[in-house]
Amino acid sequence: MMLTCRCGVKNYLDPYPFWNFKGRTRCAGCGAIYALELAGGAPVREPQPASDADAGDALLAGSVGEMRDKLGRLRDAGAGMVFIPSMFLPADPRPLLDRFMSEVVPAVR
Ligand SMILES: [Zn+2]
Repeated sequence: MMLTCRCGVKNYLDPYPFWNFKGRTRCAGCGAIYALELAGGAPVREPQPASDADAGDALLAGSVGEMRDKLGRLRDAGAGMVFIPSMFLPADPRPLLDRFMSEVVPAVR
């Protein structure tokens, strides 16, 4: 699935047929936020520009401490799984994922 932002950047979204998602994504070019909903990897409706007022709650980003805090709150609220969309990872995600697994995950298991 391709999300063409109003800035002109085309954002590639993984089209996996098993992917059901309702949430927000951020344009890789300008940072604009879009609400999107996918069912079976296909859009339920066209992505809509969205407010970033609560986008911080939908993103796992920031320092190691900020990610530990957010994941801890999610765990305490009953979340049992974290899904990391591969569309935002660098070409070689291993160093980033290794650091995530060694510095963030042990604190919230
Ligand atoms: Zn954009």
